[in-house]
Amino acid sequence: MSRSNPPPPRVIDAQFTAGASRVEQLPPPQHLEVAFAGRSNVGKSSLMNSLLQRRKLVRTSSTPGCTRQVSLFDVTTRLGSRLTFVDLPGYGYAKRSKDERKEWIELIHGYLLQRPALALLVALVDVRRGIQEEDEQLLDLIRQSRSRAPVEIIWVATKLDELSGSERKLALVKLKEQTQRPWVGFSIELPETHEILWRQILKRLEIDQPPAPKPPESDGTAPEGTAPEPEGTAP
Ligand code: GDP
Repeated sequence: MSRSNPPPPRVIDAQFTAGASRVEQLPPPQHLEVAFAGRSNVGKSSLMNSLLQRRKLVRTSSTPGCTRQVSLFDVTTRLGSRLTFVDLPGYGYAKRSKDERKEWIELIHGYLLQRPALALLVALVDVRRGIQEEDEQLLDLIRQSRSRAPVEIIWVATKLDELSGSERKLALVKLKEQTQRPWVGFSIELPETHEILWRQILKRLEIDQPPAPKPPESDGTAPEGTAPEPEGTAP
């Protein structure tokens, strides 16, 4: 991707619409919902602000526990689609009491199991730490749930810039081997990873998709626009 020719913004509008510490207090869903989950400090707020191209719309949790609610953000994409980004409270913060951690988990679980508009979960894991027990528990819950329709999941390894260029691809491949799932790498410092994640989100939601390429000519050459898999993915 050329630096002199950045991609046009993905988002034309993004606004906070509601926050609640109990799922029942949330307003009824307006659009398809994309929820972001991960341990405290994984980089969730920074990632959401990067995707929304806003500096401080999603509050960062530099004060541990300050985002102990589910927050909804209405998003309008460049092509006019509407969706809702959902900020789930970060889990696993060691200094919190057992009761507080239980409350958090219940809130996250409540949202994941009770919200019918939830279409996609973006599960965040620090690329240097890999998947930990609480990440697995969360995903098991949603995979095994019979109370709702299956939810698409995108696995994202955050803070990719903390690794050197050669370590990045290796780390993503290792995560893929360990988990048998595809991974997307992300960093607030690497704008190309923002575009890759946006494309994945829109593809999974089946919105704002580019028109299907024309069938190739019969001379056997690859269709125009066919590109190799970009860096930052381990599909
Ligand atoms: P949250 O608790 O998951 O919402 O995490 P934050 O977005 O508040 O980020 C936690 C810390 O990680 C902050 O100090 C951020 O500046 C830092 N951080 C977030 N994203 C990145 C990233 O992509 N790369 C690096 N190096 N640091 C990041």
